[in-house]
Amino acid sequence: SRDNVRSFLRRNLFVLFTVAAVALGVILGFALRPHNLSLREIKYFAFPGELLMRMLQMLVLPLIISSLVTGISSLDSKASGKMGVRAVVYYMVTTLVAVFIGIVIVIIIRPGKGSRDSPVAKTGNIEPVQAADAFLDLIRNMFPPNLVEACFKQYKTTYKKIIRTRNVTVTLNLTESLNMTESNLNLSRVLHTIQETVEETVPVSGSSSGVNALGLVVFSICFGLVIGNMKQQGQALRDFFDCLNEAIMRLVAVIIWYAPVGILFLIAGKIVEMKDLAEVGGQLAMYTVSVIVGLLIHGLFILPLLYFLVTRRNPYSFIGGLLQALITALGTSSSSATLPITFRCLEENNHVDKRVTRFVLPVGATINMDGTALYEAVAAIFIAQVNDMDLNFGQILTISITATAASIGAAGIPQAGLVTMVIVLTSVGLPTEDITLIIAVDWFLDRLRTTTNVLGDSLGAGIVEHLSHGELQNQDAEVRNSVIED
Ligand code: ASP
Repeated sequence: SRDNVRSFLRRNLFVLFTVAAVALGVILGFALRPHNLSLREIKYFAFPGELLMRMLQMLVLPLIISSLVTGISSLDSKASGKMGVRAVVYYMVTTLVAVFIGIVIVIIIRPGKGSRDSPVAKTGNIEPVQAADAFLDLIRNMFPPNLVEACFKQYKTTYKKIIRTRNVTVTLNLTESLNMTESNLNLSRVLHTIQETVEETVPVSGSSSGVNALGLVVFSICFGLVIGNMKQQGQALRDFFDCLNEAIMRLVAVIIWYAPVGILFLIAGKIVEMKDLAEVGGQLAMYTVSVIVGLLIHGLFILPLLYFLVTRRNPYSFIGGLLQALITALGTSSSSATLPITFRCLEENNHVDKRVTRFVLPVGATINMDGTALYEAVAAIFIAQVNDMDLNFGQILTISITATAASIGAAGIPQAGLVTMVIVLTSVGLPTEDITLIIAVDWFLDRLRTTTNVLGDSLGAGIVEHLSHGELQNQDAEVRNSVIED
């Protein structure tokens, strides 16, 4: 009846808007492509999309902190401990399954067989990132020395190359191989020609821009645990963060109206900008297919199956409620920028308990990246195939472990996974400059893996809520009792 239609429309208005925005964005993008816009024109055109990114990112920091602190302090430490263990087990299991799927698919499809499509210009000086240093960085970032700095800087090891010749010692600062400066390269070449050089590469402290979400997450969890245990004394702080969180979510409710417009322009802008697909070589095309097949299997079958096995509920209707978050992930290619929308979808559409979402979503968006892990494994093995390198079982195991670490270490920002790839490649001795082989399609795969990441976090929240049913009810009963006592 008409009333039904109307209430359906009201409930799904945002989703309809968002789906329409994607369709319009694609149409507009392809319509504008023949006009050969300059990069500057494309940038102006995509401006409304850039604004959406900025608005969402603006909310992420206070959202992560306030939701974790309130989520955790509203539970007793035993309940939050149990919930935390469940979440971490879910993250680990699903990430490893994702890596496994990736490995199986890339071995079956073998996208890198045959000779290289395109010779890669050797940069001459390979970035010496050591897997061990990257791993230490991950742990260092958990303990930021300065909380304010953690809002815009991460710790990242850089390297110094020390070259000693008979009578000179030269120290070169090495940055990532992708932007190693020309003069540094020349200088090191000159020095190489002088006889009797001794070279040593030493790790030095460094930092790179970008939120250190991991550090803030660890701090907020500890802080939430502490003020949760402070009984009456902690009430003022609990109220403060609760109120902050509520206020941020109200801002999200406003921004969500703008989201479809932003998504339209983000997608259209990217389509106008992208290179001609015909230029993508055969190997690269097969590599892209491998990643997509892996992500589809993981996102559409494995994760829903897991959700069904644990909760006995229909996973696809749960996913239906997430549509807007998934589309935002596709548009922004950032799981942390999507976080505000993910919160709303889970709480408003899927009615997941706030104590669960507040706890597990910020952690998930920071460390749980199934799509990224799968992609890292596929990309590393693809590069090995292109180099005609046969990997033994030990090396494949190494790739699985480092791909998992690389996905935990990757920030939830566009193409972060491409940077942490270096860890996986160096761990098995693959040339890091071969990352250039896959750059051309990375913007596209990034969007798909980000969508898978957000899907994994959201289904995880549903699963953890189901498993934590008992604790949540106990907590409710306690709250009721204390109200009666008062
Ligand atoms: N863009 C991804 C995300 O935000 C991370 C990645 O580059 O894989 O989830």
